[in-house]
Amino acid sequence: MLTFSAEVAVVGLGRSGLAAARLLRSWGTAVYASDGGTGGSIELAAAELVGLGASCQVGGHDLDRIGRAELVVISPGVPPTAPVLVRAAAAGVPVWAEVELGLRALGGSLPYIAVTGTNGKTTTTALVEHLLLAAGRQARAVGNIGTPLTEIALDEIKPEVLAIELSSFQLHDMPTVAPTVGLLTNLAPDHLDRYANLTDYYGDKARLFANATARSVWVSNADDPESERWISGVAGRRLTFSLERRADGWYDRSAKALMLGASVLLDRAEFPLLGDHNVANALAASLAAGAVDVSMAALAEGLRTVQPLKHRMEPLREVQGVLWINDSKATNVSSTEVAVKSMDRQFVLLLGGRHKGEPYTRLGPLLGRCRAVIAYGEAGPQVVADLADLVRVIPATGFDQVVRTASSLVTRGDAVLLSPACSSYDMFTNYEERGNRFREIVEAM
Ligand code: ADP
Repeated sequence: MLTFSAEVAVVGLGRSGLAAARLLRSWGTAVYASDGGTGGSIELAAAELVGLGASCQVGGHDLDRIGRAELVVISPGVPPTAPVLVRAAAAGVPVWAEVELGLRALGGSLPYIAVTGTNGKTTTTALVEHLLLAAGRQARAVGNIGTPLTEIALDEIKPEVLAIELSSFQLHDMPTVAPTVGLLTNLAPDHLDRYANLTDYYGDKARLFANATARSVWVSNADDPESERWISGVAGRRLTFSLERRADGWYDRSAKALMLGASVLLDRAEFPLLGDHNVANALAASLAAGAVDVSMAALAEGLRTVQPLKHRMEPLREVQGVLWINDSKATNVSSTEVAVKSMDRQFVLLLGGRHKGEPYTRLGPLLGRCRAVIAYGEAGPQVVADLADLVRVIPATGFDQVVRTASSLVTRGDAVLLSPACSSYDMFTNYEERGNRFREIVEAM
């Protein structure tokens, strides 16, 4: 239990804000919880918290009140530039990510594997949890992946070990982060719409290492020079993974095997997920789980039984010999790049949504097997401008029309890949809704 002498402001009334406020109220802390949005789940959270003795505001924030708080606890997804955070900083009020509150509440009692990076965080976090569970350990995946850490802090029965997915926004406000094992998947341009520059974005990711000691263990990507640059010189033991050369965890392409040092961990054919990027995620997760004493046999058994995650290179179904793949979670150019690289057949690519600032030209050279790109949404004209010289690009408007156009262009043996490289907010609430709509249309075919 933590003690506070004045009010704590909780920003955001989603699942994390609600869990954080519940935890604070369980200690008797005075809580002011607010959310700029409105709507059913926010109102419900506010009503519950008022019942617990918190003071709540829906549809806006009282910045003066936040400026007087002892602490501000923020939900994931609130960018460092949000007015509430600017005000807190100006007033000298400390700001913690919800997950920082969770870690402090747990008081260092649980070992945790923290996963960050631009792409592959959720997949790798889920893989770490799966490998630990398959090895008989009571593990829970928390953080950005779904379950807020403060929910675990409130639970009577605690897991043995945690896999925590952390975004750059969360790491920005986690002054005491000190994972048992810290894993950096990769660093690539993203969130140019929310960060002033890439150095600020990478710098937030690198806060993972802020409290490194000689006892720390880090897992990093030897194929990514940007990650290597940020991790070089950090205290602790370092384990690397690579798809290109020998490393602690590596892919032996000629033998088609996932390797740990000189030993075969698993044949590629036995690992169910599509794409080389998922081999990288599997190697990273295996090194992290291995670092908390999961045996190689248990790692191999875990990898064999992994299921694809929804919206991430998820094969939906074959219709008349055409495979439809939902990669709606690919919301930046580098994740679409890896999706396209994993295609082993001819395909049509559905690309578009809300433009996030990066050019699409980088995809051009990778589109050798691509019959056509369907360009849609707000980013449509930009996609046309960037790619029309390199590949056939067909503009389309509504999402149903996008899918119809794609289906008119494919033949038996092809695939249709939804890997939009954009956020979904111009047409959908989020990438899940986009992926679910795609699934519905494909299932109705
Ligand atoms: P995150 O949680 O970091 O957004 P996810 O695991 O949800 O990552 O995967 C998001 C998308 O990123 C996937 O659809 C896939 O296209 C791509 N991706 C997954 N793993 C990697 C990786 N290791 N390197 C590059 N891209 C990846």
